[in-house]
Amino acid sequence: MKKHNFNPGPSILPQIAIDQTAEAVKNFAGTGLSLLEVSHRSKEVDAVNEEAMALFKELLDIPEGYKVLFLGGGASTQFFTIPYNLLETKAAYLVTGSWAKKATKEAKLFGEVVVLGSSEDKNFTYIPRGYDIPTDVDYFHITTNNTIYGTEIKEDLNSPVPLIADMSSDIFSRPMDVSKYGLIYGGAQKNLAPAGMTFVIVKEELLGKVSRPLPTMVDYRTHIKSSSMFNTPPVFAIFTALQTLKWLKDLGGLEAIEKVNQEKAKMLYDEIDRNKLFVSTVPDEKDRSLMNVCFVMTENYKDLEKEFQTFSSERGMVGIKGHRDVGGFRASLYNAMPIESVNALVSCMQDFEKLH
Ligand SMILES: *Cc1c(COP(=O)(O)O)cnc(C)c1O
Repeated sequence: MKKHNFNPGPSILPQIAIDQTAEAVKNFAGTGLSLLEVSHRSKEVDAVNEEAMALFKELLDIPEGYKVLFLGGGASTQFFTIPYNLLETKAAYLVTGSWAKKATKEAKLFGEVVVLGSSEDKNFTYIPRGYDIPTDVDYFHITTNNTIYGTEIKEDLNSPVPLIADMSSDIFSRPMDVSKYGLIYGGAQKNLAPAGMTFVIVKEELLGKVSRPLPTMVDYRTHIKSSSMFNTPPVFAIFTALQTLKWLKDLGGLEAIEKVNQEKAKMLYDEIDRNKLFVSTVPDEKDRSLMNVCFVMTENYKDLEKEFQTFSSERGMVGIKGHRDVGGFRASLYNAMPIESVNALVSCMQDFEKLH
């Protein structure tokens, strides 16, 4: 039976990226060796790095003055690396979910943290608005897509101070204006590559201003100077990222994928809104994530949750169980998720409704 992969992360990747990676694991770039057993300083790996970096910049239209880094450590390592490098006295955070909360907690180790808004009062089911960004903070940190709760900041905010964004789960899902940000980062395992690779896009002029000493590996300038080769980079994940980026470019880039992403999300939200058994956990349409669609059973049908879980998995749906902090269901519709799979989920919800 065909499997429809709605996993939240690590998650679905383009089939061609998986095929090319499988091939390279057996015989990498005609070397007769596996991608897994070659030096990260070989000319073949160097070419992969360079091409991945160039495509990454091209697709996001990254302006002059920004550096792109491919590192290890995951997005969670950036939670402390960012304040280490950029927080001198005070920083502002928007608390829109558990990842944002974790980032905020780390920043408090380095200075004063002002929370400009939090949606924790309603279990993070909305994006806080109507706050003023103070001008006396070193930066303002947001999480653009809240993977667990299914909310998303879908526009590039205007900020009088450097805007820093965790884009782990919506990078490359839409065109964006990188010039509005001071730093963008994320783990690649949601929308780009397998686990192991972390991307950082940083405006170089922001660096070197804090007074504390920085450990070498924590200092972004180390990785800029060495083109992300100060230590061994996540070669395998970077290779797959390159294949994903090539696939994305062939598809027509971010404008094209945004259209598809909007269409896929609309199909599913429309069904949730129509179907008497289900309700979205995010009431306000403008806050609804295009990447992670969270929904629960309506009050009258609460006891059908387990039954739908079984019903849907028998139809090939994988990974739609909601996060334990939300319950219910979460369908992740990352770039590589085909429309046919969303269609299959919608049909599954319709057929389940007919049974009740
Ligand atoms: C998954 C995720 C993280 C954590 O990423 P790691 O690479 O596992 O540290 C952080 N932020 C967001 C928004 C995520 O979706």
